[in-house]
Amino acid sequence: MPFATLGLRAELCRAVAARGYANPTPIQQQAVPVILAGQDVLAAAQTGTGKTAGFALPLLQRLAESSRPLRPRSVRALILTPTRELAAQVSASVADYGRELRLKSAVVFGGVGFNPQVTALARGLDVLTATPGRLLDHLQQGTVALDAVEILVLDEADRMLDMGFIRDIRRIVERLPKARQTLLFSATFTADIRALAAQFLRDPAQIDVAPRNTTAARIAQEAYAVDHGRKRELLSWMVGSNNWRQVLVFARTKHGANRLAEQLQKDGLESAAIHGNKSQGARTRALAAFKSGELRVLVATDIAARGLDIHQLPLVVNHDLPQVPADYVHRIGRTGRAGHDGRAISLVAPDEMDLLQGIERLIKQRLAPQVLPGYEPSAATPARSGEPARAPGRGPRRQGRR
Ligand code: AMP
Repeated sequence: MPFATLGLRAELCRAVAARGYANPTPIQQQAVPVILAGQDVLAAAQTGTGKTAGFALPLLQRLAESSRPLRPRSVRALILTPTRELAAQVSASVADYGRELRLKSAVVFGGVGFNPQVTALARGLDVLTATPGRLLDHLQQGTVALDAVEILVLDEADRMLDMGFIRDIRRIVERLPKARQTLLFSATFTADIRALAAQFLRDPAQIDVAPRNTTAARIAQEAYAVDHGRKRELLSWMVGSNNWRQVLVFARTKHGANRLAEQLQKDGLESAAIHGNKSQGARTRALAAFKSGELRVLVATDIAARGLDIHQLPLVVNHDLPQVPADYVHRIGRTGRAGHDGRAISLVAPDEMDLLQGIERLIKQRLAPQVLPGYEPSAATPARSGEPARAPGRGPRRQGRR
């Protein structure tokens, strides 16, 4: 099914063709016509489903079709995202898809200079992508006005709630006109998300492309039982012996991420860490080096990795299991994106078995940890009823060079 059958105009169809998209993804097939028709949308969609184009394309078309002169500091469409990285990526997509339309867009987020953003906002914008905190700063300074917003997008709304942005979001939405179109995207559908939707959306079309709280089917998931103290060694061995070239590794803490990246580097694997204490410049540089293949391993915390769009990322490793089961779904959603196969590996220490069970309940799938010869955990991994940990002797699946 080509993009044009969704009702998108030629300028936008050419832009997606230039990106190499042949056909719309399921979320795009469902969301585009509904958004074009002006309806509110409540969509359950993980990163990797193509959701960004799913809202950006029809949003651009609606703005282009009701084109009007911009008032100083005003904004016609506002996209809120949880992290700087996601804001930058969404804004870049908006600019790219809209390159043949005469629409002005910009992005604002924290951690970078305020004044260049003031300049970008001064003459008004068709599309502003923003993180909540910095947008509030601009509202307070009077450098942006939101009383003419026609379309509001809450992207990765579950993560914005997890990150404690609910009050900021409320304060922002209070400043928007009541008559507007609102689109809410979320990977998980918790009670909090439903409450938010009930408050902000009007008669929304509900779109659900991935089964709720389950992981994408094309991701092969494996777990290995190993002591905490030997995880780094096992990881180095796996990366080296399998000749993995691009591995995103999750660590629980900023400090742990730094230390792990340093140790891997000493093991001869080009590595860097990204987390909230790193400057925006350092994060951007590390991501670019990882994408270009200069870095083999990128170690990230959950928040820093949120929304990272790394094309065809083959492999995600959980060095530490996440404390919150939903984060597992977010993490492994970095691999196997938009129809590509992916692989997710979790290193599970004996005291993380409870966390693993929480994850298994959420994804409704067993991840029985394998034990590798030479890496047997010292305390026996508690076997669960009727399901002992797999016997030693099965090494990790070998992968050819990628
Ligand atoms: P998203 O879920 O928006 O983060 O998109 C995930 C990835 O899929 C991005 O790398 C997009 O560039 C890519 N993508 C989006 N739409 C399509 C499409 N129709 N066909 C192929 N790839 C796509």
